[in-house]
Amino acid sequence: MSLRLVIARFQHETNTFSPIATPLESFYPQWGSDALTNQTGARTAMGAFIDAAQSMGASIQTPVAAYANPSATVDANAYQSVCDAICLAVAKGCDAILLDLHGAMVASGAEDGEGSLLERIRRIAPHTPIGVALDLHANLTSKMVANSDVMISFKTYPHIDMYQTGEHVARLVLAMLKKKIKPYMTYRQLPILSHTLRSNTNEGAMQEIVNQAIALEKKPGVLGISILAGFSLADFYDAGMSVVVISDEHYSKARTVAEECAQQLAEQIIDRADGFVYTSAPSQASLEDALRLQQKPGSGPVLLLDHSDNVMSGGTCDTTDILELALARGFNNLAAGPITDPTTVNQLLKIGLEKKCSIALGNRSGWVYHDQTKNPLVLEGVVKKIHSGDILVRGPIFTGSILRMGPSVLFETEQAQIVISSERVEPYDLGVMSELGIEIQNKSFVLLKSRMYCRPVFAPLSKGLIECDSDQGGPTSSNYDRFDFIKIRRPIFPLDQLPSE
Ligand SMILES: [Zn+2]
Repeated sequence: MSLRLVIARFQHETNTFSPIATPLESFYPQWGSDALTNQTGARTAMGAFIDAAQSMGASIQTPVAAYANPSATVDANAYQSVCDAICLAVAKGCDAILLDLHGAMVASGAEDGEGSLLERIRRIAPHTPIGVALDLHANLTSKMVANSDVMISFKTYPHIDMYQTGEHVARLVLAMLKKKIKPYMTYRQLPILSHTLRSNTNEGAMQEIVNQAIALEKKPGVLGISILAGFSLADFYDAGMSVVVISDEHYSKARTVAEECAQQLAEQIIDRADGFVYTSAPSQASLEDALRLQQKPGSGPVLLLDHSDNVMSGGTCDTTDILELALARGFNNLAAGPITDPTTVNQLLKIGLEKKCSIALGNRSGWVYHDQTKNPLVLEGVVKKIHSGDILVRGPIFTGSILRMGPSVLFETEQAQIVISSERVEPYDLGVMSELGIEIQNKSFVLLKSRMYCRPVFAPLSKGLIECDSDQGGPTSSNYDRFDFIKIRRPIFPLDQLPSE
């Protein structure tokens, strides 16, 4: 009889500070055979699970594939519906379970989203192997480790090894089923709340530690090592960095080797703790840097990356602090956006092209810090272009898919060309500007609400980039002082001093 596998995807990186709700619809859930169709051929961990299962003739159950962009705590009924579907499939009986999870989900009624799901699955099928692929930004918990057999995370950020991570998990679980390996999994949680901009695996401390993990994976008996940077915009007890090591108990020193590797990596991370901290410059200083960079030789615009409001970390895509400051400082020939404001788009669609008008832009999503709200930015200008907002992605991230901005306009003022969209979008494709008629090569400055995803596309066309945070904070500000952490374990660096040995 062929193997029976349950394969599912349930992903959300929860920014508990975000004002953007996360109902079931945000996940665009695909159920049953639709999930299989949706993920077959995808370069995701679930895509790899399906390929591995099909190549060995296993029978596959795919109860669900559900992915939502980062936003606030997941609605209770959304969480329950997806977990119920997975658990129902497991309850029907299977030989192994392969899950494509993020690892930083906080749900209403289940703070440790993944841990609670895995615990429930294990209760239903206590002897069935469970393999989990995780994002590098997972906030690992003891419940997640205790209720799975194999857990491997991405080793890249920007994430380009989702598929390879899935392959790794599938390979280990299938070897486990054939009794070729017996996984032993251990982990270390570090008292470090690393910053997303410091989890780039192409530079600095994160690159060093991940390279060390890759080297240690070659040791006899070691099956896999993951370095989790964690996701810091979650007021959740277990948010932060961790290390997971898996070894094979068929190897006599398996436990010792795993514990030694975990300990060595944990100590190295502590030694390099400063390398995981990001200190935001004052907004005005960043803008002055941008003006200086613009004066230097070279072609292309200077990019202003507003990481205080980054959609892929739970941003609202509608704050205007950096834009307002740049305009006040006299920036000219500036392109900006997309800024999401469906109310203003509707108003401008009624007014039509080339008619001078005044708008109040952005700051409608309700981001609040200590009762400080932000006011819309008043601007005068004309609509230069109207667009459906469907953009065919030509860049390297999500190539060939449709990026949906909703009805959008190009609004032109004396100093700036601004893309205003109806839906929140991270600018990971040039089309968000070029389709609206902006030629970024001819701009002096391009303001993007993005910290990482825009880089592969926009950076090569630019003279350089300047990271800008808002002094007033924002839904994804890099200044931790702008967030009230209450539930996170203490002490944790850099909110507190590093605990001494
Ligand atoms: Zn991530």
